[in-house]
Amino acid sequence: MSSFCELCGRKVIDEKKTVLIDGIALNVCRGCSKRGKPYTPPMSISKTKPTASSNPAARATATRSTSTTRKIEMMDNTILNPEFSKLIREARMKKGLTHEQLGAQMNEKANLLKKFETGALKPDELFAKKLQRFLGIHLYVGVLED
Ligand SMILES: [Zn+2]
Repeated sequence: MSSFCELCGRKVIDEKKTVLIDGIALNVCRGCSKRGKPYTPPMSISKTKPTASSNPAARATATRSTSTTRKIEMMDNTILNPEFSKLIREARMKKGLTHEQLGAQMNEKANLLKKFETGALKPDELFAKKLQRFLGIHLYVGVLED
């Protein structure tokens, strides 16, 4: 099997080398192999994949598109009721549930529920809707923009 150096075009008599030159793998003669980096087949490269550089851009466009479609279910001019902590606590008590029991039902952390009830934390839209469903309460109130 005779082959030619892909860099200088000379016939490779002795061992042919595969090197990386400008990111391209080339089969070259021994003399030219000094001009490139030793090439390792893609299978053995695990940590140096050049995908990381292209990811942030893709993620940025993804978040931009979701923000435009954010108001699918949510009506305009609604905010989380400032009394949400009281509403959640009262509804839970009415059902005779502990934080742990309600958390287990909702498949959420009881700790989070406690924080919502003390007002230390605000439930996000998804969690608030879940609470509305499980407790049969309304956590969102309309706001007039006038
Ligand atoms: Zn060569």
